[in-house]
Amino acid sequence: MVAEIIAIGTELLMGQIANTNAQYISGRLPDIGVYAYYHTVVGDNRERMIACIKNALSRADIIITTGGLGPTQDDITREAVSEILEKPLVSDARCLADIEAFFKRIGREMTSNNIKQAMFPEGAVIVKNPNGTAPGCIIEHRDKTIIMLPGPPNEMKPMFDNFIMPYLAKKGDLKLKSVYIRTFGIGESALEDAIEDLVSKQKNPTIATYASVGQVTVRITARYSEEEKADDILKPVKDEIMKRLGDKIYSEENKELYEVVCELLLKKKTTVSLAESCTGGMISACLTDYPGISEVYLGGVNAYSNEMKMNLLGVSEETLDRYGAVSEACAVEMAKGIQNRTNSDIALSVTGIAGPGGGTKDKPVGLVYVSLVTKCDVWVKRLNLWGDRSRIRANTTLHALDMIRRYLSGLEF
Ligand code: ATP
Ligand code: MG
Repeated sequence: MVAEIIAIGTELLMGQIANTNAQYISGRLPDIGVYAYYHTVVGDNRERMIACIKNALSRADIIITTGGLGPTQDDITREAVSEILEKPLVSDARCLADIEAFFKRIGREMTSNNIKQAMFPEGAVIVKNPNGTAPGCIIEHRDKTIIMLPGPPNEMKPMFDNFIMPYLAKKGDLKLKSVYIRTFGIGESALEDAIEDLVSKQKNPTIATYASVGQVTVRITARYSEEEKADDILKPVKDEIMKRLGDKIYSEENKELYEVVCELLLKKKTTVSLAESCTGGMISACLTDYPGISEVYLGGVNAYSNEMKMNLLGVSEETLDRYGAVSEACAVEMAKGIQNRTNSDIALSVTGIAGPGGGTKDKPVGLVYVSLVTKCDVWVKRLNLWGDRSRIRANTTLHALDMIRRYLSGLEF
C-alpha cells in the first residue's frame, strides 16, 4: 500500500517549524508494510490544499494529513476534504461532549468556534485526541483512505501510534513485528559492514539501519502468519546481530541511551554528580529528564570559565596554566572536585572545544576529554569529534552517558 503524507500549515512553508510529523509518520509506516512515496507540504490556502489532496488521491491509497484541524479561521483541512469528497460536514455529538469535557478539565471557557472541531465529513470515523481539543478522523472513500490528524506532534503521535497504526495494519491484513537494537560508538558503515551478509540475504525478517548523531539503530521486522510465531522468525537474526555488535548495544528495547543509564544508576543505587564545561548542562538535562532520578543524581556544576573551574571545583591554577582547560589533567580535577563536594559514588566531567572557533593545531575543534572517577579509580577518555558545534556537544553528551553505562555494566572504556 502506498501512502502520501500531507503536512498542512503556512508556518511549515515559511521555515518556522520543521516537518517532523511527516518524518515521524514515514518512520513508522514501513513496519506495517505501507510506503510513503510522497511528502507534501501546503499552506493554509483552500485552493492549493484542495489541489494537493486531489493530486495525492490520484497516486496514493492512503492520504494522511496533519494540521489545520484547530478552531481558528485558517484551520480549513476538514472543509477542504469535505468539498473534495462531496460529503457535508456534520457535527458528532459524542465528539462535542468530549471537547466540552476537555475544556472543563483544563478549567477554560469553551468558545463557539470550538464547535467546529466536532464537525467532520459525513461517515468519518472519529479518532479521539486525549491531549488536545482537535480530534482526528478516518474516512474510507471508494478504494482510498483519508486520515486527518492534528498538527501538534504531542497530540498527533499518540493518536497515530495507538489508533492509526493498528487500523492500517489490519487493513493490509499484514502481521508485522519489529525489534529495535540501538548502538553507540560504531559508525553506520562499520555496522553495516559487520552485518552485511545478513542484510544482503534478508527476506523475512527484513533488516534496516537508521543513523543519528553517534548512534545507529537496527530494525528487524518479521512478517508472520497465525501459524508462525513472530518471535521465532526474529530470534535467530536478532541473536546473530547481537553477537556481532556486542557491547556497542545499549538497548534491545528501543530505549534512549539516557534512559538505559538512568535505569542502571537506579538499579545499582549508584549516586552520581557532574561537572560540565563544553556541554553546559546537557548531560544534567538528560538525567533530570528521567522521573525518579533524584534518588541517585545529586547535581552538577556548569563550570565554563577557568574561574568557575577553580572556585567551584578546585581545579588548580597550575593545571590550567600548564595544560589548559581542555586537558586530561583538568578533566580529572573537575571530576574529583565535584565528587569531593557531593560525596557521590561516581563523578563525571567533560571539557572540550566545541568550535567553530577556539581550535589550535595541538588542540583542534572537537577535542574533548571525558573523565569518570569513582572513590578509588580514575578514567579519562580523549575524544576527537567532528561536525559543527551542536553535533560535537550532542556527541560529547552521548559519550559521557555511554561512559557511565560502561562503568555500571562492568565494560571497558
Ligand atoms: P491547533 O488546534 O493547535 O490549531 P491544528 O491541527 O490546527 O492544531 P496547526 O494549527 O496546523 O494544527 O499546527 C499547530 C502546531 O502544531 C504548529 O504551530 C506546530 O507547532 C505544530 N505542527 C503542525 N504541523 C507540524 C508538522 N508537520 N511538523 C511538526 N510540527 C507541526
Ligand atoms: Mg491550527
